[in-house]
Amino acid sequence: MQNLAIFGAGNFGMRTKKLVEEKYFNEYKLVYFVDNDPAKQNSLIENVPVISKETLLHLYGKEIDSVSPALMKSYEVNKFLIQHKITPIRITSTGIYPLNECDAERFCPICQKTSFYFDLFGVTPRENALCPHCGSLERHRLLYHFLKEKTDFFAGNCRKMLHIAPEACFESLFEKQFEKNYITADLYKPNVKVKMDIMDIQYEDDTFDIIYCSHVLEHVADDRKAMKEFFRILKKDGWAILNVPIIRDKTYEDPSITAPEEREKIFGQYDHVRAYGPDYIDRLREVGFSVEVTCAKDFLSESDIERMRAFGEIYFCTV
Ligand SMILES: [Zn+2]
Repeated sequence: MQNLAIFGAGNFGMRTKKLVEEKYFNEYKLVYFVDNDPAKQNSLIENVPVISKETLLHLYGKEIDSVSPALMKSYEVNKFLIQHKITPIRITSTGIYPLNECDAERFCPICQKTSFYFDLFGVTPRENALCPHCGSLERHRLLYHFLKEKTDFFAGNCRKMLHIAPEACFESLFEKQFEKNYITADLYKPNVKVKMDIMDIQYEDDTFDIIYCSHVLEHVADDRKAMKEFFRILKKDGWAILNVPIIRDKTYEDPSITAPEEREKIFGQYDHVRAYGPDYIDRLREVGFSVEVTCAKDFLSESDIERMRAFGEIYFCTV
């Protein structure tokens, strides 16, 4: 017997309750209505307690095994369901259907899992940004598709890859691809293979076939020096993806701005030292890179972009 929560104590909720009582009383027991209307909350409707969404989130998962699908429209609830392994179901007069992939509105290509909503993320929180399973963001999901469709990334493991400030959602995937040739590096993070200051890299010229460094250069005091270093250690037939957030019309930096609050206001985050504009590409070209910029709409359909929430620009650099 499964404990069921139904979203909405209105007409739809009542119809669903009736169905459960008439047809599915052996399988499901209705334990809660969840309703947004404060007038209905904390009361009994036909002997069933009505709770708020907030109360639902405070219940322990073991109290509820299944919920009706309308509840999935909230990312907090979505996360709660995943954490507690609660199944969303659709109840109709012809049967009870566990919701499957094609019902889910979001798909993360990195962890290959679906969800009904991605989570909020960002200094100014963006809706539908973070995959609740693997933590990927819009730019990571775009990058994954770019690697798959526009590069030879998944073509073999005998090449050497450098990943700066590795994102958790990629690490195991990349490790699997390149094994011992996959080098993770960071100046501060403890769980990387190599401690590295990208303005002064300890590797010889022409060492790496692939370099991936995303959303790091905006934190680095001398980004041109870091770009030069990447150019130097990249093999002549290799490629690098060097992405930064583009948040202004023209790149702006001022090393005298050091207060975290001021940096957040002017550069977008407390630890950013500049705000890039589209002229970022000129800096890459100045050190010798050939650069191609790709956006989601250049190679993904509108429905894929929306389903995966894959956005951003990819700066693909070759020597
Ligand atoms: Zn994911």
